[in-house]
Amino acid sequence: MADSPEARVLLPALRAAARLARRVQQTLVTPAHKAGQEPVTVADYGSQALLCRAIQQHFPQDAVIAEERASDFLSALPPEGRQQVVRAVTQGLVPAATQRLADALARPVDEEAVCAWLDFGRDRQAPRAWAIDPLDGTLGFLAGRRYTVAVALLLEGAPVFCAMACPAYPHPGGQGLLFYVEAGRALMCPLEDESAAPTPIHVSAADDPAQARALESVEAVHTDHAAFQRIRAALGADEQQVIRMDGQDKYAAVACGDAEYYLRVSPTPGRREKLWDHAAGALLVTAAGGRVTDLDGRPLDFSAGATLARNRGIIASNGALHEPLLAAVRHALPPLGAGGI
Ligand code: AMP
Ligand code: MG
Repeated sequence: MADSPEARVLLPALRAAARLARRVQQTLVTPAHKAGQEPVTVADYGSQALLCRAIQQHFPQDAVIAEERASDFLSALPPEGRQQVVRAVTQGLVPAATQRLADALARPVDEEAVCAWLDFGRDRQAPRAWAIDPLDGTLGFLAGRRYTVAVALLLEGAPVFCAMACPAYPHPGGQGLLFYVEAGRALMCPLEDESAAPTPIHVSAADDPAQARALESVEAVHTDHAAFQRIRAALGADEQQVIRMDGQDKYAAVACGDAEYYLRVSPTPGRREKLWDHAAGALLVTAAGGRVTDLDGRPLDFSAGATLARNRGIIASNGALHEPLLAAVRHALPPLGAGGI
């Protein structure tokens, strides 16, 4: 099914990470808190350990820029939580271990191994770097809503491959979709059915702002809902359908034509977006025929490390609505450097 080495390695790893997350969501969702007070769960660490283990095994020279770190795993989780991660990762490796028994025996899963996987490739300079959000939308995950497991490969700072598992994305056959970009093509397949052939996806062609389906974060701590409302009013689109959704499922929805645009204005003045929240989604939307910029129309610059230091906010659209959206943002928000964002 998958043609590139990246897809052959990462698609099974994402499926394993998504299965782990689903199991945790059904059974063990007491969150802990990282130093910055953001919530984190057994699934965030378990998912990252599985993804980084696959990268370490198959692409050992690559760098990794991932959200979670071993030091937080050791300090934020109590001993029982750390053991739950070890058990979840062990269970996540079962299909792989039957095929690769020698590897599995060579490296038993214990806290030390989990720490080594979590920090694999961190702070390394290399032409290829993986941006990983092991559980994007942790608040949605905790509330039983959407969440996304997202991975992008950057070559000299430009995304060239991405894959994201969306375990709660509904589709006619049930729930759970896998989206990826391979050789410039945006593709989608059911998360659970590994034998299903992928289908190409494309953004919608709708160009009437009044009819547009608009996406924003559920959480008021992550996006400024009032600013979004002002921008939509400036677009002349008060009647638009607004859909609130967690994680990078929002990018997937634009890419496959379930919505026309996703807009993000941080409610925290001066905060810059994180690489792992956008690299995979932005490549997916672009490959599906859409357009992604910051609120000022600048391309996203993924070459500055963990933070999109040179951009403020995000607009991901089907392309047809991008210029009207940029004009609405200019109308509704103060220009960069003049009052806040
Ligand atoms: P969402 O699921 O769209 O609500 O976004 C989740 C992401 O919001 C997390 O992965 C965080 O990196 C990010 N986030 C956390 N705090 C903020 C903030 N103050 N402004 C913008 N994004 C944030
Ligand atoms: Mg995130």
